[in-house]
Amino acid sequence: MSFVCRFAPSPNGPLHLGHAFSALVNHRAAEVAGGRFQLRLEDVDTVRCKPEHEQAILRDLDWLECPPSAPPTRQSDRFGVYEAALARLEEEGLIYPAFESRAEISRAVIAREMAGNWPRDPDGVPIFPFRRQEISDAERARRREAGEPHVMRLDMARAVARVGTIYWQEAQGNPLGRPIPVTADPLGWGDVVLARKDAPASYHLAVVLDDAAEGISHVIRGKDLFQATSIHRLLQELLGLPAPVFHHHRLILDIDGRKLSKSSGARSLATFRTTGATPDDIRRLIHLPPRGGKAEPDTAETQTS
Ligand code: GLU
Repeated sequence: MSFVCRFAPSPNGPLHLGHAFSALVNHRAAEVAGGRFQLRLEDVDTVRCKPEHEQAILRDLDWLECPPSAPPTRQSDRFGVYEAALARLEEEGLIYPAFESRAEISRAVIAREMAGNWPRDPDGVPIFPFRRQEISDAERARRREAGEPHVMRLDMARAVARVGTIYWQEAQGNPLGRPIPVTADPLGWGDVVLARKDAPASYHLAVVLDDAAEGISHVIRGKDLFQATSIHRLLQELLGLPAPVFHHHRLILDIDGRKLSKSSGARSLATFRTTGATPDDIRRLIHLPPRGGKAEPDTAETQTS
């Protein structure tokens, strides 16, 4: 099997140290395995994603000396593929249009929480508070025909019943470590969105279709996505896609112990660069050995945590 991994940022803002870590770990794994390192621009959100951020990502990767093996792919080029997958899932009765606005969802969650406990998904977000059965399929079809804005949601209970128990292989300790099976547990996510109001995909749908199309053998990404892998494995089974090996690496945290994020204003790699930092300074900050050092990804990854 040939080794192919990827770095998949959204071009909706500048990269920070957390991105640098993920890109460098992926790049190094491909180097050690003699495989390929791809760049995928996750630009399903065509409003927030901008060409200038794409340019900045390529520049940052060059500067860090972890350029991709080929030109980047873009999710916005693949809407037709996502539409076809949605059509297939819909034909099988596994997804449905949902019309509830954010405000309606939030009101319903508050009402349910007042009445007792309302479950939250593994990310801590309350699960979707309505049931598919509350509105008939005919009524949903009518509202869709009438052009009412909607998302497409996965009927989680039905999807899980369809595939039964599923697993993924998680590489231990480093991206090339020995994989062990992990049982997927997607039920706790509730009826997740598979297509946004404004695009024929959500992150979850696009990522599994792209990983399959690009022949990704190893999905190497942050631990914050560990639980989401259950959704991805479920979709891979439903759509007949191959299951890559997964590795969820440590996260780069800020001084308060929180994951770095664009929205909380993490210092960008470009800012580090323009204020005189070198690529080796960046590696030091994220506890990776200097470029040209002997360490393999395992030592690189397990040095600190
Ligand atoms: N676009 C996702 C992110 O930036 C990457 C997800 C993935 O690697 O699967 O978090």
